[in-house]
Amino acid sequence: MELKDLIEAARSVVPFTGAGISTECGIPDFRSPGGIWTKMRPIPFDEFLASQEMRDEAWRRRFAMEDHFGDAKPGRGHLALASLYRAGKVPGVVTQNIDNLHQASGIAADHVVELHGNSTYAACLDCAARYELPWVKQQFAAAGDRAPDCPACGGHIKSATVSFGQAMPERAMRRAEELTLGCDLFLTVGSSLVVWPAAGFPLMAKRNGARLVIINREPTDFDEIADLVVREDIGTVLAPLIAH
Ligand code: NAD
Ligand code: ZN
Repeated sequence: MELKDLIEAARSVVPFTGAGISTECGIPDFRSPGGIWTKMRPIPFDEFLASQEMRDEAWRRRFAMEDHFGDAKPGRGHLALASLYRAGKVPGVVTQNIDNLHQASGIAADHVVELHGNSTYAACLDCAARYELPWVKQQFAAAGDRAPDCPACGGHIKSATVSFGQAMPERAMRRAEELTLGCDLFLTVGSSLVVWPAAGFPLMAKRNGARLVIINREPTDFDEIADLVVREDIGTVLAPLIAH
């Protein structure tokens, strides 16, 4: 069956998205040739905690990202998934992305399950108080390019993303599992499926009897268990699903 028929036949479709859905919006992925990964080693959580220099560097990178992709808009993939959501086919999206573009495409924040958090705001690691980026930026600059700590409790302030070595968010993991076990079509879009535990969800869906579709221009380790593999450009493949 083709993608369109699989979606039509499904009762509940759960999309699982990765960086590949946002590349056409101008945000590079990690593992494509020339991706962020090949240029900058990510800062693991323990190093962020251990040194002021690493926290300064993490924020310097975050502000540079803001300059480059701060005004990115949802792409055709995001819009197609939002159309399926509005039509009642998609109860929620599970995403590894941190760019807030599913919310920007019109999916209620409550229905976007973020496995790796969100980079568009910050939080205190100790008391969880939320801080907006412009405030962090102003504090950073005022202190001579020094990452600020929480005025309320003195804890470190980090963008609200999940770094390597940092615990996965429990509620998001639970909700992702519920969505995965409740669907009969699991739609993987733009993920290399190598980051765990996130990559466990396609496997969980398949074992639970759902059909599995993988849309990704490069092969993945799960292609052989998928019911359909579409190795083409995401925007081109999903554009026909956008409801006008
Ligand atoms: P990844 O970089 O490991 O894999 C992305 C995949 O998408 C690649 O296999 C690539 O071939 C494919 N791809 C890219 N553009 C495509 C297109 N237009 N059409 C079809 N396929 C395309 O990404 P991942 O699996 O999401 O893992 C990376 C981790 O980094 C994630 O955990 C995520 O949190 C984070 N990340 C997020 C963003 C973002 O929020 N936009 C960007 C970079 C990295
Ligand atoms: Zn605090």
